[in-house]
Amino acid sequence: MTDHEPRLSELAVSLRRVQERIAAACTDSQRDPSQVKLVVVTKFFPASDVLHLAQLGVDEVGENRDQEAGPKAAQVRAALPKGPRWHFIGQLQTNKAASVASYADVVQSVDRVRLVNALEKGAAKAGRELEVLLQVDLGQGADQGRGGALPQEIPQLGAAVADCEYLKLAGLMAVAPLGAPARPAFERLAALAHTLQAEHPDARVISAGMSGDLEDAIACGATHLRVGTAILGARPPLR
Ligand SMILES: *Cc1c(COP(=O)(O)O)cnc(C)c1O
Repeated sequence: MTDHEPRLSELAVSLRRVQERIAAACTDSQRDPSQVKLVVVTKFFPASDVLHLAQLGVDEVGENRDQEAGPKAAQVRAALPKGPRWHFIGQLQTNKAASVASYADVVQSVDRVRLVNALEKGAAKAGRELEVLLQVDLGQGADQGRGGALPQEIPQLGAAVADCEYLKLAGLMAVAPLGAPARPAFERLAALAHTLQAEHPDARVISAGMSGDLEDAIACGATHLRVGTAILGARPPLR
């Protein structure tokens, strides 16, 4: 790493720090670090950062807006055909589902049957298989606008995905509720994941934990973390 690539060096340092946090948290909860996958959330940051991260060994990235993610994924794939896998982690309108299905490998934010149907149609049209996580609202409906199905809706939603040909039910995703401690919420998520897995043995993913609460998520059994700020830096304020 040279001075010619200041952003690459910067990302290398912050990525290393996050990897050290993950390793320490795994030690604390006696978990195997190879069972915890880091998805780097690159929203608001350019394709060049994704390419730098790929160079540093990152193989899964997350995005939350279709109009940004589509072109970015295309740009990265053009430069690096065997580049990272793309996770869509944002609230998704049904009219954007076909677009997302054309480039995403995983959609983590599936929270209603209409969206399941729209993604299935889009994936069929694109001839691609999509991994799907069901997003759970851990705030009992109090977190307006962050998306997620209520816990009691998960069995029906899981059955809907399981009935699809192009969608593969891979597990659950959640964001810790605002203004409440993350740990008990992530414990509820783990219990829900356990129940879902009894019905759907391949649905093993628990996506939880961001820059501020990844240690809590690891302690509660998260298999996937979604980390943005701690690696890429602060995002510009929402437009
Ligand atoms: C932006 C985002 C993240 C990353 O959050 P940071 O606090 O920047 O690590 C994780 N999950 C979702 C759903 C997001 O929208």
